[in-house]
Amino acid sequence: MTTATIQRFQELKTPFYYYDLELLRETLRVAVREAGRHGFHLHYAVKANANPRLLAVIREHGVGADCVSGNEVAAALENGFPAAGIVYAGVGKSDEEIRLALERGISCFNCESFPELEVINDIAVSLDKIARVALRVNPGVDAHTHHYITTGIEENKFGFPLRDLERAIRYCQGLSNVEWSGLHFHVGSQITDPTVFRDLCARANEVQRHLVGHGLLATRINFGGGLGVDYERPDASPIPGFADYFEAFATGFEALPGQQVHFEPGRSIVAQCGSLISRVLYVKKGTDKEFVILDAGMNDLLRPALYQAYHRIENLTSTSPDREAYDVVGPVCESADCFGKAVNLPVTRRGDLVAIRSCGAYGEVMASRYNLRPLAPSHFSSGE
Ligand SMILES: *Cc1c(COP(=O)(O)O)cnc(C)c1O
Repeated sequence: MTTATIQRFQELKTPFYYYDLELLRETLRVAVREAGRHGFHLHYAVKANANPRLLAVIREHGVGADCVSGNEVAAALENGFPAAGIVYAGVGKSDEEIRLALERGISCFNCESFPELEVINDIAVSLDKIARVALRVNPGVDAHTHHYITTGIEENKFGFPLRDLERAIRYCQGLSNVEWSGLHFHVGSQITDPTVFRDLCARANEVQRHLVGHGLLATRINFGGGLGVDYERPDASPIPGFADYFEAFATGFEALPGQQVHFEPGRSIVAQCGSLISRVLYVKKGTDKEFVILDAGMNDLLRPALYQAYHRIENLTSTSPDREAYDVVGPVCESADCFGKAVNLPVTRRGDLVAIRSCGAYGEVMASRYNLRPLAPSHFSSGE
């Protein structure tokens, strides 16, 4: 962050989210270009960050939206995403949400169970609409990531198990107002091991061969999101490796002629453009440790408490040449309200400004008013 930006922060009430819209635009340019090389379609996963200013920038780049609630569908539409580019996933869609999505004419439902298919068909009949659906498959691929963000292995609530897939497709074909259009895979998030994507392609190829053998042709295959970002070094690698990521699918997945391939990146688009900016309230000496107590808490950024996630923490204003190890914590009455343990920082004092980096994804959207704390506002890079 530039001196001028930090200067500007001095005048703002903390904590707040700061978004670098230039970095967001550059990230989108790269993602769209690299997907475009292979003719792949992108839908931004709105759940990663639904800030209207960010949604407007993302929509300008011509990507669609991947939504996981009726309100996300409504937010995508309000912010100018065309209905024809909206896909809607989730294990527990309510009747009201399904009705909204059908009335607004979204492109596709990603469906996860037999009873859901039945309900979608009933509602489509009542509205005299056809619901296009992709079936979410649980492909049995381990994403090797935190167990809370792994979704593609057996024994979790997501998707159809492979053994039910063919029956589910036949079931769709028997429904009057449902049109089966394809398969949806999403195996987890913050995936940094490229072999996971290779395994996913191999499994998708197997599934596809099996279905083709039974005369079932999917018109679209959706590989979901999941590409990880570098939380350790946000400045060294601000833009995730989209080229290698899409290349892995272009070479690994055997698309059928005319088959559309879709992706739903969330974190990889928005994580690095956001920081949570906070002020140091107190520096407290314990017996063996020193604590830096911030005015931002787990209600502003839940990831460290929820997933033991690492975020880089920087003191933006200390000029001390000496360094210390601090536990950096928030003011919320929970031991889990800790952003980092033994964080090496320049000697820190009350009033210093601190940046918690890579907060653009799953930061502001997960904010709560726990302890009746106010929701933190957002500010944007200079000139905007
Ligand atoms: C969360 C989610 C995504 C986005 O995942 P990222 O890891 O943020 O890219 C995409 N698709 C579905 C169905 C999801 O649930």
